[in-house]
Amino acid sequence: MSQSSCEETSCSGTPYYKKRYWVFALITLVAMGLPFIQIDGNQLFLLSFDKKQLHLLGVAFDMQELYLMPFLLMLLFLGIFFVTTLAGRVWCGWGCPQTIFRVIYRDVIETKLLGLRKRIDNKQQEPDMSLPINKLKKGAALLIWIGISVVAASNFLWYFIPPADFFTYLSNPAEHTILITFLAVLVAVMVFDIIFIKENFCVYMCPYSRVQSVLYDNDTIMTVYDYERGGKVFDPKGIKLWKKPETPNAECTGCELCVKVCPTHIDIRKGMQLECINCLECADACTKVMGKLGKESLIGWTSPQAVETREKVRYFRFRTIAYMVALVIVMGALVVMSGKKEHMLLNINRTTELYSIKEQGMVENSYVFLFQNTDKVAHDYYFEILDNPKIKIKRPEEPFTLEPGKKVKKVVVLYTEERLSEDGRKDTPVPIKIHAYALDKKEEISVFRDSVFVYPRIDLIH
Ligand code: SF4
Ligand code: SF4
Repeated sequence: MSQSSCEETSCSGTPYYKKRYWVFALITLVAMGLPFIQIDGNQLFLLSFDKKQLHLLGVAFDMQELYLMPFLLMLLFLGIFFVTTLAGRVWCGWGCPQTIFRVIYRDVIETKLLGLRKRIDNKQQEPDMSLPINKLKKGAALLIWIGISVVAASNFLWYFIPPADFFTYLSNPAEHTILITFLAVLVAVMVFDIIFIKENFCVYMCPYSRVQSVLYDNDTIMTVYDYERGGKVFDPKGIKLWKKPETPNAECTGCELCVKVCPTHIDIRKGMQLECINCLECADACTKVMGKLGKESLIGWTSPQAVETREKVRYFRFRTIAYMVALVIVMGALVVMSGKKEHMLLNINRTTELYSIKEQGMVENSYVFLFQNTDKVAHDYYFEILDNPKIKIKRPEEPFTLEPGKKVKKVVVLYTEERLSEDGRKDTPVPIKIHAYALDKKEEISVFRDSVFVYPRIDLIH
C-alpha cells in the first residue's frame, strides 16, 4: 500500500478499534451529559411536547416559533449528504448507537465479561447454546443488557423530557403511565434489536444504508481492499475464485481473518458492499497479519480512487465544497434567525362578524388576540394601532399582566367614528398595523402584526 493510503489506515500504530472505543466513550459521555447542561435554565437541546418548547443552545423557542425547524432539518440533511459523500458510512462504524450497543453487548458483555463467545476476532462463530453453562451466561448477558437499555432509553428521553421532570415523573409512575409505557417499549425494542436482530438491522432494515450508495463517488473514503497488491479474489460477477489469490505476487495470504472478524459477515475483498458498516475491524485484522510479514495492511480506510492511482485522497472536490458552502449558508441563516427570537407572541384572529354599526355612525370590528409571554419574567402588556389615528381601541381599556410562559386570549374591539370610505356598493377593508409590547421593555419586547378593519358600505351608515 502506498504511503498516501497509509495515511488513512492504522499505519500509525494505533489500531482502529482502539480509536473507535475512544470515540464511543466520548459520544456516550456527551449524550449522557448534554441534557444536564443548562444555560439560563434551558437545555442545549430539548424538544418538549409537554412544555411545547424547543430548546436550542440554551434558548427556549415556543412551538409557535418553529420557524427554526426548516433550518434544523436542512442542516441535518445537508450534514448527512456531506458526511456520506466525504466519508461513506463513517457514521455507521463510529457514531451509530446500533454499532456502539452491539460492541458493548457482543464484544464487552458476551466475549470479555462472560466468555460466552470464545474469540473477539471471530464474530462469525456463534456460542454453542447446547451447553447449559452458556444458557446461564446468555441469561446473565440479557439481564445486564436490560439494565444498560433502561439507562440508554432514559438518556434518549431526556432530550424530550428534562431529566429533573423525568425523575419526578418516574417517582410517581401511577400518574405517568404513558412515560412508563414509552420507556418499557423503548427498552423492549433495544433488547430485541441488539440481542436478536443484531447486525441484520444494518444489513436489511437501516434506511440510511439504502440511500448512502447514491451519495458515494470514487473519492469517498471507505474500507477498501487493495486488490492491486493483494490480488483479485472475486471475479467481476462477484464469484469467489480462490481463497488465496493465485495471481503472481499477490500478497493476500488467504488467512480470511478479515472475513471472520467482520460483524456483518462479508468479505471486503469483493469490493464495496452495502453491508459494510465501516467498522474497520477487517483493516485491523489484516494489519496484524501483514505486520508479521513486514508489510502494510491490504485493507485500509481510503478511497477507491486513491488505491487505483496511488495518489492522496481528494477531500476537496466540487461536491464536498458545494455541501460545505450550503452548510455554512444554512448555519448562518440559523444563527440570524435564532437571534430574532421574540419574547412575546401574538396571533390575531377576526371574529365571524365582519363589523357592527352603532349609533351615530360608529363602526366596530372585533378580534381575538392570543398573547403569550415567552420571557422568563412577568410583564404588563398593551398594544396600539399605528398609522391610523381614526381607528381606536375600545376593549381592553387597560394593560394586563401575563406571567412567564403563560398565554391569554383577549377579545379586542376596535372602533371608528370617522368616515373611512365613501363607497356605496361594497365594504372597504382598511389595512391596520398592530404594535403590541411589554410596558416595561417597549423597545425589546414588542411585535408588529398586520390586520384589517372592515368599514361597511356607506349606505348602511345612518
Ligand atoms: S486479512 Fe489480509 S491477508 Fe488475510 S485474507 Fe484478509 S486481506 Fe488477505
Ligand atoms: S468489511 Fe466488515 S469488518 Fe470490514 S469494515 Fe466492513 S463491516 Fe467492518
